[in-house]
Amino acid sequence: MRNIFIIWLFCFTCPLFGLWITLSNGTVLYGEIVEHNDNKLVLQRLDTFGIVEIPWTALHPIQRQQLQQKLGLILAKTEVSQTIPGIVLYLRTGSSIMGEEVERKGIYVVVRNKTGIFSIELQHILKEEAREIPVTDIYRMSEVYGEMSKRYKLEKADGHWQFGQWLMQIEDFEHAQIHLQRAKTLDTSLSSNVNVLLDRIQKRTQEIQQKKLMQKFQLYRNSKHYDQALAALDQLKSVLEPSQWQQYREETLSQQSEYLRQTISQEWVQQAQQKIGALALNRKLTLQQAQQFILQKLDALILAELAKIFGMEQAKIQEYWEKREKSAKYRFSYGDGTFIVGLQGQEPEENAGSVEWEPPNISKQLLRQSTLSNSEEWWQAASSSMRKEWLLAYYSENRLTVAQQELKTCPSCSGRGTQISSSKIIVCPACHGLRAERVVISK
Ligand SMILES: [Zn+2]
Repeated sequence: MRNIFIIWLFCFTCPLFGLWITLSNGTVLYGEIVEHNDNKLVLQRLDTFGIVEIPWTALHPIQRQQLQQKLGLILAKTEVSQTIPGIVLYLRTGSSIMGEEVERKGIYVVVRNKTGIFSIELQHILKEEAREIPVTDIYRMSEVYGEMSKRYKLEKADGHWQFGQWLMQIEDFEHAQIHLQRAKTLDTSLSSNVNVLLDRIQKRTQEIQQKKLMQKFQLYRNSKHYDQALAALDQLKSVLEPSQWQQYREETLSQQSEYLRQTISQEWVQQAQQKIGALALNRKLTLQQAQQFILQKLDALILAELAKIFGMEQAKIQEYWEKREKSAKYRFSYGDGTFIVGLQGQEPEENAGSVEWEPPNISKQLLRQSTLSNSEEWWQAASSSMRKEWLLAYYSENRLTVAQQELKTCPSCSGRGTQISSSKIIVCPACHGLRAERVVISK
């Protein structure tokens, strides 16, 4: 067992000619590899000078791995050579320090690791132990390349060849390519081996790039940036299975459409509320001007605004708005401005909840005293918040879909339609005898 171990160790460092091959049945052959591919190697025996074809599967597994690695047929396991010899110092305080020994001078030993350089007095050390330490524990990532390059004989082809392979293992493909190319230039016999590795690097780089694109696509899609997600997906078109790509695309488009449908309708209503709020605050406008604005201009303004916000054509915005899910309902009351529009509004879509309303039982004489035509006076006297609520009811009744109409008993006269003022019966000045306020529920 001990002998075999020595052979492996030897093979790992010796050139590819004159090597010992250990088969899984225990046979040991001595020779030179004259040819190899993914399935087998061809060995020229140096003892009998015969030629033997050996399938890779016939080799002892550990030697197979080392040899294939050496020939560039497989990548080395990362833990094999990402470590360098270091030491662990166990201190009398109970703690320990791990790193690379830089030097020993007098009563000190100097050790470095990625957190810094430490001088430790020998008298504080209880025990020392040699250990293989990951390179990344000794150097910071930015230092690894520079530090490791000092460990290879870069004046020779083999140094570049070894270092290039090492760099591949830590996935520093950019530097790996440089050193592999250099190895090929210095020793053309390395060409085919180098080309195998360069090919691998190219494939691996592509894989990494595709993985990043896929992550980008998913990140954008999850954060509802659908346009960017679709753009990333377009770049993946040549690498994904056509059916898979199509599925991703359709899913994303349908999510985008659903998202736009929701957000556009929310934004629409929000814009309407803002613009109507501004209208209500403008004390110079007459009621008629405000009504005209709502019926003739408001929707066009909202459309233009949303087209800008969503970066879409107005027609598309309009389409989404019309397709909106009508689960959100808006409830606005005409309040004591109900008399302007009357109790009979737009025919509601749903009748549930509508209130039966009895016609007012007030004498015609009394009603005549009422000032049903003074809508402009009401408008001018109403508070801005009352005006806003009235205009919102007006907008939703005329521009949204009316789901229900509700009549609420006039709070001023408790639904009597009249009040007593200075011992006289007068028509209720709030509802003007209508006895109710109208509430529009729309969607
Ligand atoms: Zn009333």
